[in-house]
Amino acid sequence: MNIYDVTALVISLAMVVVLGILIGCTPNDQSDLSYLPYTELNFAAAPNIPDARVSQGILSKKSEKSKNSSHKWAARGNRPWKYIIIHHSATQTGSAKEFDKMHRRKGWDEMGYHFVINNGRGGTDGKVEVGSRWRKQKWGAHTKTPNNEHNNFGIGVCLVGNFMNSMPSQKQLAAMRELVEYLMITYDIPPQNVIAHKDAPILKPTECCGKTFHRYVHSNSFRRQLNHYTMAR
Ligand SMILES: [Zn+2]
Repeated sequence: MNIYDVTALVISLAMVVVLGILIGCTPNDQSDLSYLPYTELNFAAAPNIPDARVSQGILSKKSEKSKNSSHKWAARGNRPWKYIIIHHSATQTGSAKEFDKMHRRKGWDEMGYHFVINNGRGGTDGKVEVGSRWRKQKWGAHTKTPNNEHNNFGIGVCLVGNFMNSMPSQKQLAAMRELVEYLMITYDIPPQNVIAHKDAPILKPTECCGKTFHRYVHSNSFRRQLNHYTMAR
């Protein structure tokens, strides 16, 4: 082996090592936004951009139509929501205003839920109150998990009442179904991602949204409705 052969061998080995390092260092999939801190995901100032998925035929025209900015629940920006998370307030009475005060007293930025559905005590039975973090398309503060996935991408819907041994009112349920249908279609959220607080991989155990109501959330009749919303698209 002469000096040129040795040099060629060294260069080849060096290239293999460099290539190996490059491949081995491939960063995690950048399309997964969950590694970003909350603040990086505040799309409050984002303009209402037409969803590219519609022009690509991934989302139907109908789901784009429901994004119409004139809809009562429409929000500016396109936060990539993945979950709808159902809560109960575990209180007999309540409203968005009261929960906002309660959560601020805990030192939070504002009310942690995105929507509150009144039960007639603190607000009209079946009325959907839109939280200010929904209008801002801001991350939630309602379902703490180790990687923050469910707060980053979960829409928090709280029904006023304690549903350990009773169900929400008929008007609350009707309002919840209408809201869930709108959110599933608008954000392309699959039925299996419509869950109760206690179903998430939470750090602190909870019975939220209450034992009786939790059975309803997983009942065949409710699941059939969710599947129907998906198929209707
Ligand atoms: Zn909860």
